[in-house]
Amino acid sequence: MSAFITRFAPSPTGLLHPGHACSALRAFQAARDAGGQCLLRIEDIDRMRCRPQYEQAIYEDLAWLGLQWPTPVRRQSDHFGQYQAALERLIARGVMYRCFKTRREVMEDIARAPHRAGEGPDGPPYPGPLTAMSAEEEQTRLAAGQPFAWRLSLARCRDLLGGQFDGLTFVEDGVEIRARPEQLGDAILARKDVGTSYHLACVHDDALQGITHVIRGRDLFASTHLHRLLQALLEVSTPVYHHHPLLTTPGGQRLAKRSGAPTLAAMRQAGLPPPTLATAGGCP
Ligand code: GLU
Repeated sequence: MSAFITRFAPSPTGLLHPGHACSALRAFQAARDAGGQCLLRIEDIDRMRCRPQYEQAIYEDLAWLGLQWPTPVRRQSDHFGQYQAALERLIARGVMYRCFKTRREVMEDIARAPHRAGEGPDGPPYPGPLTAMSAEEEQTRLAAGQPFAWRLSLARCRDLLGGQFDGLTFVEDGVEIRARPEQLGDAILARKDVGTSYHLACVHDDALQGITHVIRGRDLFASTHLHRLLQALLEVSTPVYHHHPLLTTPGGQRLAKRSGAPTLAAMRQAGLPPPTLATAGGCP
């Protein structure tokens, strides 16, 4: 049997809810069925929103669900240097640029773009600047200490990869899908003060940890199109994917911290039985 390594990768920005339980139970069950492994990875690059008590609750919630994971657990905030190195590789490949624009200026560029690409998962995708910034202006802004974001230039990726760009595919549930990173536009991969984005850290870690199967919620499906491009640029292998439907409220609303869903911690403390794949609101 070929290796099967998957992962559950929560962000400790709040307490987990039953939607997370579904995701975790699915990933751990898939690994068990395949005789493989499910790793736990703590995605805590957002230092403003992550809290140690939420990380602690993740361990307690998962243990309550009856899950066991290999240790030590990879915690992304311990590895900013690696994401920096990955970013530098992309910069060296000539596909990144500094974007000093404010949110408002970005929206103006989007409104002026000749081809509107439609709505992306994070709002309308940024099509890139109409005119590139001169090296002189960039130096002046850097010297003035202005904040900026590192954006991936899809136009430069296309130039670099040539025909390979349109041929990038990934496998979702046995079906080959053509990657369309245009859906996310010139995505932000790092900021001046935050050395990485979710996308860059996730692709780096999936490769480093030898993840063969990514099992995660449908809300991240669009990101996979960008992840596939990053895998090509970083010359790492591509896992196969399964994006499962999200657990919703009876009214059809997606479960989220703000939708008032019960947290696993509250259920645990109330002495309720832990959800299972069969009982967790009928994990979709
Ligand atoms: N950390 C992400 C989240 O909590 C999941 C990332 C992934 O599974 O790729 O939504």
